[in-house]
Amino acid sequence: LTMSVAAILAESATRHADRAAVTVGGHQTTYAQLWEQARSYAGGLRDAGIGENDRVAVLIPNVADFARVYYAVLSLGAVVVPIHALLKRHEISYILDDSEAELLVCAAPLLAEGAAGAEASGVPTYTVLAESGSAAGRLEDLAAAAEPITSYLPRHPEDIATILYTSGTTGKPKGALGTHLALVEQTNAMLLDALDVRPGDRLFGGLPLFHTFGQTAVLNCGLRAGAEILLLPRFTGPDALDLLLDHGVNVFFGVPTMYVALLEAASAREERPEALRYGVSGGAALPVALLEAFETRFGAKVHEGYGLTETSPVACFGRVSQTPQPGTVGTPIWGVDVEIADPLERNAIELLPRGELGEVVVRGHNLFAGYLNRPEATAEAVVDGWFRTGDLGTKSEDDHVRIVDRTKDMILRNGYNVYPREVEEALMEHPGITSAAVYGVPDDKHGQEIAASVTIDPDSGLDADAIREWIAERVAAYKYPRLVEVVSEFPLGPSGKILKRKLAERYSERNG
Ligand code: ATP
Repeated sequence: LTMSVAAILAESATRHADRAAVTVGGHQTTYAQLWEQARSYAGGLRDAGIGENDRVAVLIPNVADFARVYYAVLSLGAVVVPIHALLKRHEISYILDDSEAELLVCAAPLLAEGAAGAEASGVPTYTVLAESGSAAGRLEDLAAAAEPITSYLPRHPEDIATILYTSGTTGKPKGALGTHLALVEQTNAMLLDALDVRPGDRLFGGLPLFHTFGQTAVLNCGLRAGAEILLLPRFTGPDALDLLLDHGVNVFFGVPTMYVALLEAASAREERPEALRYGVSGGAALPVALLEAFETRFGAKVHEGYGLTETSPVACFGRVSQTPQPGTVGTPIWGVDVEIADPLERNAIELLPRGELGEVVVRGHNLFAGYLNRPEATAEAVVDGWFRTGDLGTKSEDDHVRIVDRTKDMILRNGYNVYPREVEEALMEHPGITSAAVYGVPDDKHGQEIAASVTIDPDSGLDADAIREWIAERVAAYKYPRLVEVVSEFPLGPSGKILKRKLAERYSERNG
């Protein structure tokens, strides 16, 4: 049995040749063109010495070249190592070393950090998006001088296609090994069982493609389905709104902070996005109040999914064909088992009965092949064939999974467990609060104290004291946040998620 993630583009290039595949700033690239360019880049990379199983690092924002390079590398049977566009040279160099990358393909605007990182690691750099005559070699020139490849190299299902570095909330980033099987099956399962994407659909492409969510749900699913992906090189609420209102985007994909930014931008305009069919949320908990605000303002349902880089990513999804149950992440998708296990039993998987709270564990075709060079971390994470997610949740009689919180985000105050998400949901019910992050900070008396950082609607006239008094009335005394601050924005990770660790550090710095 052979397969390849590159077949996604190769097959669609035949089936949907003249349809638009990716569009950036109004400039469309058709399926046939994209595949031709990918084969041309592949020829150039081959001449630069890249072959089967070699790792090629890719530092490119959301532009057509990301897709060209991604499928070019995969066509050669080589491995794509996408690097988060916001990383600095030391972080880039760490990933190049850890993944033993042979080469870095870097977008010209990111070259300052990219080239410095590559130099520190002794890795050659080729650029895309650079003017001719740029100092570093251009992939385009390399490709122009080379014979394009004619087809992709078929792979064994267990061969590695991608190495995606987790953002390293705990310790150094780890490289999750994604197999061709996991990525191809995940794409098929998403399209057959979870999403509804049709040829000619116009997908919102603001999720970073270097992250698993954008790569699978938008890039691979979109191109497999013959849809057009409207890429946004840098996400902003107003730009996203513009794509929805003026460019006919009909399926929106975002992490919750993108929903917040989109709603904020929408307060300046009256229209409804006529074409919009539905939204997809994932990557972090979507507060029910935010989901409802989106549905009211945009007149479209939001379907929430749950997963991790290690599960390629989707484990559960609130099917587009079904009415969502807000507050849940839907049910396990096709070919994937999701259960709840005893979090204290570390050496074996002890499944818990329905309804009980425990650690979410996942098994199925979508699992990664382990962390690169980290057998111990892999052995800790994968037990008896189950992947331990580190998330706490429940599963109902009708198979709906509810994510309660991350184990490591749980707050222990005076011996009571406090789940930040529950408090965030309560805060978000205030009409003046636009987003909320609840986290623990060290406290001599209580062990940990509960802190909340919130953004507000400037017209609400709210302040920290008013919010503290309001929330004290809404949730039990042991869980309401004693420390409340109003902020203008949150520190965000590369995939747009709120970095609670940064908020807690900032608090500690301020308070000695
Ligand atoms: P980070 O640690 O910053 O989230 P990461 O690189 O680990 O980055 P992912 O693999 O995308 O990124 O993160 C997966 C985690 O995101 C899950 O373990 C879970 O905590 C959270 N998550 C994803 N989807 C949901 C969801 N729908 N509801 C709640 N949490 C979610």
